[in-house]
Amino acid sequence: MSRARDCSRAHLEFRLADPNDKVPGQPAGRYYVDSQCIDCDLCRETAPANFIRNDEAGFSYVYKEPETPEEETLCKDALDNCPVEAIGNDGT
Ligand code: SF4
Repeated sequence: MSRARDCSRAHLEFRLADPNDKVPGQPAGRYYVDSQCIDCDLCRETAPANFIRNDEAGFSYVYKEPETPEEETLCKDALDNCPVEAIGNDGT
């Protein structure tokens, strides 16, 4: 089954985040960012306790997995609202 899906907001097609395409520097865990990140800042604004910017390379990554229900909610919000589907949750 194809992982791609239509993004009607932008009339562009993005694939879902790919756990085999994670950006570097992330701890092992459920949430991750993949190479589709366009450095828009949404996740860092939404969940600053968990997402940070790689200033040299210009992308966001998860630097700490959520540890509280509030952080979990904010990470899920970031995943749901990432404009290019670059945030994944492998559910483990
Ligand atoms: S919301 Fe998505 S595209 Fe924007 S910085 Fe975060 S991971 Fe990158």
